[in-house]
Amino acid sequence: MTKNYWLELDDDASLNDLPADATPGFDGDDDDARDATDKLRDELIELQERLYAEQRHAVLIVFQAMDTGGKDSTIRRVFSGVNPAGIRMARFGRPSEKELAHDYLWRVHPHTPARGQIVIFNRSHYEDVLVVRTNKLFPEPVWRRRYEHIRGFEGLLADEGATILKFYLHIDRDEQRERLQSRLDEPDKHWKFDAHDLEQRKLWDDYMAAYADAIRETSRPFAPWYIIPANRKWYRDYAVMSIIVQALRKLDPKYPEPDYDPRKIRLE
Ligand code: AMP
Ligand code: MG
Repeated sequence: MTKNYWLELDDDASLNDLPADATPGFDGDDDDARDATDKLRDELIELQERLYAEQRHAVLIVFQAMDTGGKDSTIRRVFSGVNPAGIRMARFGRPSEKELAHDYLWRVHPHTPARGQIVIFNRSHYEDVLVVRTNKLFPEPVWRRRYEHIRGFEGLLADEGATILKFYLHIDRDEQRERLQSRLDEPDKHWKFDAHDLEQRKLWDDYMAAYADAIRETSRPFAPWYIIPANRKWYRDYAVMSIIVQALRKLDPKYPEPDYDPRKIRLE
């Protein structure tokens, strides 16, 4: 009875054709979704506790989206209340001079999860085939061969025991306009406004093409991409939460059996 909470990108389709305000797999209203998300969060907290105790599975969760797409608030809402001991977020912004002097995966690999950990990537190595492509930071032959590197890199992590989930939060151009405008209108959001985002907005169609290629080239059973319609925040949170909880249920983490007999230990 697994429902699909994501959108499929057909071979010749453009991301611009996928409805960012859809709510696939959900027939209730926004309050139902919020309640369901809260319930699932309790389960997530329990599953993460077991995963941490068991120290067997590593989990990597990648978030990518256009500016204002909702990466930060999805992460905040899905993971709030999870024990910080076993969870970490890594943010990948503009690379430093030192990072640029290395290959583009050099800065990424140290942040991958150890067994027992969940690591969230807020942006990721995918920027190296997205912003790098749309802004022509490197020529096409350089970024094009990276799809193969990325498949290999994620294949390595998966072979060594990582579960990888990748989310592209899909908003449309009109929604981005509204969200950018609210960053100008609301004093509490001024800190989020970045004039650089307006430059990137002009490249919208180039970004959609870059995202579509990245998703097609690197979605594999061991590292699937989920295209989440993200105009409606309550649906986005619910969909992401559902997919993560389902993946953790499948791992079925268990508290380890003690290597001693607790009944035989006497405290003084
Ligand atoms: P933010 O997520 O708002 O903190 O912005 C981070 C910025 O860093 C975005 O504009 C990204 O496109 C940019 N960025 C991330 N990774 C790279 C990269 N590998 N090369 C160039 N820019 C990047
Ligand atoms: Mg930003």
